[in-house]
Amino acid sequence: MGNAFERSSEVLESSHGEDGHEQDMKFALVNGQRQEAQPNLSGKCPTCDHPMVAKCGEVRMWHWAHQGSRFCDPWWENETEWHRAWKDQFPDEWQEIVHHAENGERHIADVKTGDGWVIEFQHSSIRPDERRSREAFYRSLIWVVDGLRRKRDGGHFSRAWGKGESFYPSSSKRRVPSAGGALLRDWAGSRAHAGLELTLRESTVRQAAA
Ligand SMILES: [Zn+2]
Repeated sequence: MGNAFERSSEVLESSHGEDGHEQDMKFALVNGQRQEAQPNLSGKCPTCDHPMVAKCGEVRMWHWAHQGSRFCDPWWENETEWHRAWKDQFPDEWQEIVHHAENGERHIADVKTGDGWVIEFQHSSIRPDERRSREAFYRSLIWVVDGLRRKRDGGHFSRAWGKGESFYPSSSKRRVPSAGGALLRDWAGSRAHAGLELTLRESTVRQAAA
């Protein structure tokens, strides 16, 4: 599994549109059915109904893009291989699920489980107000955060973890004294559960931090 989580900065950069935003997705509706991108296939966005084109090149993983670089969900984080690898840990029918609020607001959850938990995979930084909006919108939400996005995140986390207190010997949960480093500071205030994924060379370690 370790290799699947290796990040590639070239891939990330080439996937950004001129405005820095793209909304690449794994699924689009083809004749009303959710389908993955395949050469020469065209579909529609499950959220905004806009035409989508299948992008099946050799560099990036195959995906769907809105025709004309439209961006219909401001919360959508461009799908990187990191996102795709995480989503693929779950059944297809749980991935990229449109979630409706009573007031008509719609967003696409990365994963929504059979019993209603939403899992969001967060690779880039997120403003605290947006984080809170998403937590309010989804209610039962679990964040999975790329814990090694910034160079110093891993070291900060390890130090905080080392100083942490374990309340239950059999559990991998620890209470850490203060939010050392940007990563923990960003996520310490979250009301939802946040898991930080720390990829160390070939092995993947997941630590529940909150
Ligand atoms: Zn759309």
